[in-house]
Amino acid sequence: MTTTTTKREVGQTPPKQVAPPGRKPELKTKASYSTTGDHPLLFELGAPGLCGSGLPVSDVPNADRTTNLPVEMLATSLPALPEVGELDVVRHYKRLAHRCFSIDENFYPLGSCTMKYNPRINERVAFIPGLANLHPYQSDSDTQGMLELLYRLRCDLQEISGLPEVTLQPAAGAHGEMTALMIITAYHRSRGEHRTKVLAPDSAHGTNPASCAICGHKAVTVKSKPDGRVDLDDLRAKVDQDTAAFMITNPNTTGIFDEQIAEIAEIVHAKGAQLYLDGANMNAILGITRPGDFGVDCMHFNTHKTFSTPHGGGGPGAGPVGVAEHLRPFLPVPQVIENGNGSFAWCDDREKSIGKVRSFFGQVGVLVRAYAYIRSLGCDGLKDVSQKAVLNANYLAAKLKERFNLPFPGPYAHEFILIPDFAGDGVSENDVAKRLIDYGIHPPTMSWPIHHCLMIEPTETESKRTLDNFVDVMNKIADEVAENPSIVKNAPHTMPVRRLDEVAASRKPNVRWKA
Ligand SMILES: *Cc1c(COP(=O)(O)O)cnc(C)c1O
Repeated sequence: MTTTTTKREVGQTPPKQVAPPGRKPELKTKASYSTTGDHPLLFELGAPGLCGSGLPVSDVPNADRTTNLPVEMLATSLPALPEVGELDVVRHYKRLAHRCFSIDENFYPLGSCTMKYNPRINERVAFIPGLANLHPYQSDSDTQGMLELLYRLRCDLQEISGLPEVTLQPAAGAHGEMTALMIITAYHRSRGEHRTKVLAPDSAHGTNPASCAICGHKAVTVKSKPDGRVDLDDLRAKVDQDTAAFMITNPNTTGIFDEQIAEIAEIVHAKGAQLYLDGANMNAILGITRPGDFGVDCMHFNTHKTFSTPHGGGGPGAGPVGVAEHLRPFLPVPQVIENGNGSFAWCDDREKSIGKVRSFFGQVGVLVRAYAYIRSLGCDGLKDVSQKAVLNANYLAAKLKERFNLPFPGPYAHEFILIPDFAGDGVSENDVAKRLIDYGIHPPTMSWPIHHCLMIEPTETESKRTLDNFVDVMNKIADEVAENPSIVKNAPHTMPVRRLDEVAASRKPNVRWKA
């Protein structure tokens, strides 16, 4: 490994580092050693005097640190940052980028996550300077375009959900769930009721019980039947005067649309409880059915799933919440409104509001992308998205059924559950997932909502060719298990890192570099 010095463009000599009393910054120069395998870290690449940028020589006097800053804020030593040439930095990050799986390069059948392609038009719109460069402290009159966009987005989501009002504030799906439970709690309180329980089916996303706990409710599990639908007898037995809400995901995480939903709404409402829809994945029902029409009181969207915006690595997202008429007084403030004269404003006027759940106005950049996505598709386009998502999932399921076990009978909505039945050969679903990586496919969601399963969601953005290739790869892996299971058990073979100790990585993560 050689390091190159980038010639400084403007300043002649590198500015001297003012080393405060204490320790001198120490830099590692041993580029041969690396904790990432084949390539050194920037810290290992760096050497004193290398510089990645050329700044003009300062023509103003240095501020006197000792008089301008309180003494307790003065650093006693410089941070040991690497000194690296510009080209080394570029190559370093480019190399890391090549190690990434991404939706722009790889098929991502990651169930429940709705990893769809993010059309480039979304990015263009989000980067329009008049939108991207706004500051949240600018006045309403300065930001009419953005306000109109957000107002129109909330109207579109109202239309899609069949619910009369939507707030755009929550910053993620889980945050939307929490907001909705706060709204529901405030509603019960306004009626003099202190309901403490929230029910959710055993197939619920982990964020559902977590949101209950955050809001001080007790999470109670309702059983599912073998066909993946809610066990109505168990629901009837558990819903009572102490139940604040029943949280349901429909279509649920087994990929089944529960047609009992209207009956479920009746059972829940008969006890004065609220029906909450986890609408993280609306991909199967856009323009086909509306939660407000099937009895839902309150729901959240994940704009970063259904309405594109890639969300790998935990962000960014937006989790707008829609509510029925009786819950509107409790929505967060501020709400974006139309003044009636064609102008738009933020409005704090809502007496029973639960208040603010996010600084400023929400995750605006993501909301702009959602708006661009919805508007560029239009009503027919959105319906087409769902029809193709459903078609793709059912096509894959039909093909894979020939050799794999699909425990829940179809037809499916946007995703389905598959069990790779290789326990006899000592091959687990985890091994299959790792082997898929060798074939350039991102592993599906694993071991959830039932043990030993893969949860497969192709989304509407994939071509028949990509789906057929996935089927071929799955069949090939089944052949490999029969012929030589160790190939699958030791996968991946083609990645910079092989099997990792996943338990240690989550329980004792080591995320700091030490010299
Ligand atoms: C993704 C997802 C969530 C959580 O959304 P985040 O934005 O990750 O907080 C909740 N429910 C379901 C069904 C999901 O798929």
